[in-house]
Amino acid sequence: MQRKAFGATGVSLPVIGQGTWDMPESGARKTEAIRAIRRGIELGMTHLDTAEMYGSGAVERLLGEAVAGFARETLFVASKVLPSNATYKGTIEACERSLNNLRLDFLDLYMLHWPSHIALRETMRALGDLVRAGKTRFVGVSNFDVEEMLEARELLGEIPLVCNQVLYHLRERGIEHRLIPAAREANVAIVAYTPFGRGRFPGNSNTGAGTLERVAAKYDATPRQVILAFLTRESNVFTIPKASSVAHVEENAGAGDLQLDAADIAAIDAAFPAGREGPLATL
Ligand code: NAP
Repeated sequence: MQRKAFGATGVSLPVIGQGTWDMPESGARKTEAIRAIRRGIELGMTHLDTAEMYGSGAVERLLGEAVAGFARETLFVASKVLPSNATYKGTIEACERSLNNLRLDFLDLYMLHWPSHIALRETMRALGDLVRAGKTRFVGVSNFDVEEMLEARELLGEIPLVCNQVLYHLRERGIEHRLIPAAREANVAIVAYTPFGRGRFPGNSNTGAGTLERVAAKYDATPRQVILAFLTRESNVFTIPKASSVAHVEENAGAGDLQLDAADIAAIDAAFPAGREGPLATL
């Protein structure tokens, strides 16, 4: 599994991590989801993304079960505070709840899930204090466009803003125009969420499917692996597909060493055009 520098953290992370939104919360499917996450960790997908929003804490608890037994320093566990909880006190309390759900002493990354009506200054002060208190190693934002991202970075002062987690898939490439370059310049990692359009890609009804299959055949890979390699081709972009079966996780991990050449990238670019720049798209 290829790894690269993750923003200003000073640590490298796998290019492919694991998302957890909508993980099954009970029964045999939950057991399989836990097996899948554990298999993904074994395969190097140690960046694990969750949020207090997912199942109102149930998914954090599931992730806590999944990571139990792994050496803590091999994991990179990320969670997010809901914008409605993002007052100073609310953020500190939400982080404590997430830690309890996950049964961890500290997070690796704690993010504001999307821009809040609460003053950004207040939330960033809380995130900074959580780093100073050792509750999280790093902090970031999610669903922030360029100006808001730079403002968050400014407000954090000495504490680095290490990432911005945003929507990015083959039919939603708007961030390539300004956000990815601005983030690179500011040493902020971009974490691409929903890389498969929540399961819509590769699909067989969209016109680019043939291109993905052709590129995949060249590398003895699958169209999904080609998608993940394409999305993470820039030096500061990572992705976190969500998969709740071992077979899916194994396929996704297989993208971690796939390097597309310029001709493949051009072919995918033509099949799934980036389009014009617009406001930041969110799910
Ligand atoms: P996604 O990763 O684009 O798609 C997930 C879907 O793809 C699931 O139905 C999954 O099925 C399927 N899938 C995954 N790997 C597969 C494979 N190898 N073969 C066939 N199907 C496969 O969608 P997402 O969950 O929206 O995004 C990923 C993660 O990003 C989330 O889980 C979450 O952690 C994060 N996220 C963050 C935000 C935000 O606002 N910050 C918003 C959305 C998502 P199975 O489950 O059956 O394996």
